[in-house]
Amino acid sequence: MPIDTAEADRLIDTHAHLDMPEYEADLPQVIQRAQKAGVTTIIIVGTDPASCQRTIEIAEHYPDIFAIVGVHPHNAAEVTEHDLDQLQRLAQHAKVRAWGEIGLDFYRNLSPQAIQEERFRRQIAIAKGLKLPVVIHSRAATQETIACLEEEKAGEVGGVIHCFSGDQAAARRYLQMGFVLSIPGVITFPKNQILRDVVKHLPTDGFIVETDCPFLTPAPHRGKRNEPAYVRLTAEAVAIVRGESIAQIAAQTTQTACRVFNLTN
Ligand SMILES: [Zn+2]
Ligand SMILES: [Zn+2]
Repeated sequence: MPIDTAEADRLIDTHAHLDMPEYEADLPQVIQRAQKAGVTTIIIVGTDPASCQRTIEIAEHYPDIFAIVGVHPHNAAEVTEHDLDQLQRLAQHAKVRAWGEIGLDFYRNLSPQAIQEERFRRQIAIAKGLKLPVVIHSRAATQETIACLEEEKAGEVGGVIHCFSGDQAAARRYLQMGFVLSIPGVITFPKNQILRDVVKHLPTDGFIVETDCPFLTPAPHRGKRNEPAYVRLTAEAVAIVRGESIAQIAAQTTQTACRVFNLTN
């Protein structure tokens, strides 16, 4: 636990890919730097069966690291029924706090769109069966994502719209369905005024923060590998946009993350 950071400044990185090869050489140091920065809890997110297995292994090793299992839309085409069965068994692990990341990525289209949608709907049903919240990845597919979530009644379990990048109208729809929005480091990018405008008007309990590391590194570290310690830079940017203190943002986002992921506050 951090000793040099006030409890009020405690932050949770709600979306990190620490299972990826980028951290193979120095994972313990990365986690240590996070704790030093007051990032006491990290939630790591699997993207395919092998990655999910690895997230659980890491979570078993560290008391304040939790795991999310599911199949990313990029990997939708290669996942088998056997994989989904295996993931449902993995999801019974005490460290698993949600099902994800699942959704639609019509920007990169690494799996055919129809298959992405079929796997997305299927995994919402699985999460509902397990009574786990869902973590949603949506890129260039806001309307389609909202339609799937509404038609599959995903609001019954709720969850997180990770790396939120939509407009005010999309934010309202997601919040109405019972989801919270997760704000990534791109809020620090000068060009991203749209996101800052949305964040300014969100309800206090409607958002959390994430790194999505190793991707989306916030300023001033752009171009380098991202890591959980940097979620503080995102929280600071959110605090400035909302005219609140970092302590307020830390307390609010920690409370919301604990509620959504069923963590002790
Ligand atoms: Zn994602
Ligand atoms: Zn991710």
